[in-house]
Amino acid sequence: MSDIIHLLPDSVANQIAAGEVVQRPASAVKELMENALDAGSTNIKLIIKDAGKTLIQVIDNGCGMSETDARMSFERHATSKITKVDDLFAIRTMGFRGEALASIAAIAHVELKTKRTGDETGIKIYIEGSEVKNQEACNSAEGTSISIKNLFYNVPARRNFLKNDSVELRHVIDEFQRVAIPNPNIAFSLHHNATEIFHLEVGSLKQRLMAIFGSSYNTRLIPVEENTGIVKIKGFVIKPEFAKKTRGEQFFFLNKRFIKNAYLHHAVQSAFEEVLPKDSFASYFLLLDVDPKTIDINIHPTKTEVKFEDEKAIYAFLRSAIKKSLGQFNIAPSIDFNQEAFLYNMPLKPVDGIFKQPTIKVDENYNPFRTDILTINKSSEREISNRNNWEKMYSRHTDNQLEFAVKQEEETQQIIHTDWDNELHESNKKSTYQLHNKYILSHIKTGFMIIDQQGAHERILYEHVLETFEKHKSATQQELFPKTIELNTTDFALIQELQPEIQSMGFDIREFGKNTFVIHGVPADTVNYDSSALLEGLIENYKQNFQELKSNKRENLARSMARNMSIKSGKALTQEEMNNLIDELFACKMPYSTPYGKPTISTFSTDELDRRFRK
Ligand code: ADP
Ligand code: MG
Repeated sequence: MSDIIHLLPDSVANQIAAGEVVQRPASAVKELMENALDAGSTNIKLIIKDAGKTLIQVIDNGCGMSETDARMSFERHATSKITKVDDLFAIRTMGFRGEALASIAAIAHVELKTKRTGDETGIKIYIEGSEVKNQEACNSAEGTSISIKNLFYNVPARRNFLKNDSVELRHVIDEFQRVAIPNPNIAFSLHHNATEIFHLEVGSLKQRLMAIFGSSYNTRLIPVEENTGIVKIKGFVIKPEFAKKTRGEQFFFLNKRFIKNAYLHHAVQSAFEEVLPKDSFASYFLLLDVDPKTIDINIHPTKTEVKFEDEKAIYAFLRSAIKKSLGQFNIAPSIDFNQEAFLYNMPLKPVDGIFKQPTIKVDENYNPFRTDILTINKSSEREISNRNNWEKMYSRHTDNQLEFAVKQEEETQQIIHTDWDNELHESNKKSTYQLHNKYILSHIKTGFMIIDQQGAHERILYEHVLETFEKHKSATQQELFPKTIELNTTDFALIQELQPEIQSMGFDIREFGKNTFVIHGVPADTVNYDSSALLEGLIENYKQNFQELKSNKRENLARSMARNMSIKSGKALTQEEMNNLIDELFACKMPYSTPYGKPTISTFSTDELDRRFRK
């Protein structure tokens, strides 16, 4: 029998390779745009028709190609990006396999026009199904223009497999964004059927994100930045209150290449854990930069999964960088006046024209801000840094910048405060006002801020309880008259299960026959509470949280205790109490949200006010 093995003709081999590289118009878009990036372009234009099924054209102003290179570029394994094995470990370009153009040319009609910087004439090549049909000198701009027409014209099965235009367009837009986001120093545009969908100017990463996702992102983005020996992290996360119920925008770029990585995603999600409303997903745009040596490049070019060394370290760095940003930056939302109608109802002058000092009811025996309880770990770094940030918000009185704030204060002083003059001269002094016994209004350097008193107190108590767990430093106040508490079987069993934790919070409870506990002692900071109501409330909240939030025992108990003991909306507070509350809040690790993920603070800038009143 004769030998039967033979080499496949290039055209067939290329078509097979194309099956891997080009699944749909978006894959060709990705390859062409990446080539334009690798060519050092500063302006990249993508033009498509019928979601790329009829035409995909990428025009760049990059380095261009010589006549020979232009011809070579369509050969399989023809690349200018690596020459030797060592190069594989230092790759910074997007491509390096030399497969893309060969694959695309195998399954479409391709026209290439290219001219190198400084060359007199350019070259035009026309290819159909790997076969060069025409080649001639031409007059063209510096750079490269590649048009892909009739994708899959010779692979009907694939063509039929394509989805409708809106689905394919969505894929194209995704690829376009994945290239455009990490390259804000390059201008991009995307035209579809004569409509310009994106027009992205050169700018900062933030400007790029705003240009793509809308100008509202201006106030939604929190910067993240961290440089370590292993990884450089740069980018933005979206403030938790704008988190999406469906998977939001989640972009990781590794050395400017879009990647998907469940492990790193988990790092981000866990950094957001406490501040994210339940069932929501964090949105992020994070650029990681690592030494190319530490990445496994031996993955397929169309795949977005990537393997790299030091994954664990990167996880930890990423998580802590994001936590730091969430804590450091004022993640409180700006007030939307349309929603917060109460602000409009704030009278500047009383109806009867006579100014009266407001009367505030105070329960003199009750002090929810006992410093012995709420002063948390005074010397800790984060407290100092949070406090410093906080003081910065208040450090005002750089006169001209304050002009407007002072005016406003003058106008309202008689209604709200009698000693504004003193306050105004005391630098860093906090001036607060309670709205509807629910919200605390406070001036800050750049405008004003509204604090939800209950939410803020919940946050303070929550962190306090967690800390007692961590440091085992709860103090128990023994009850003079121990109280018996009888429960139903389920609650009894639940308390039994939670007894070690409840004990370490400072409760001294002991079983006493069937379904009964006796409370011998309570946490020292709860002496003013009815102990049995406190314990029952704790269990009630715990059960509720258990259904709604998937948190561990301690977190759940801390949340429940915080909800239980917090000063409630509707309670009038003294000036001192408000100031204490604010101080304690900003000594927290995460002052900006309640343990339930709701915001505690809204800030509103004088700029915004100026825009509203003084256009
Ligand atoms: P790879 O990008 O993996 O090298 P491609 O098949 O995508 O392989 O491209 C082959 C070669 O063609 C590239 O290495 C590059 O030299 C050249 N090339 C492709 N597109 C461009 C372009 N837009 N500008 C300049 N050169 C290009
Ligand atoms: Mg390429």
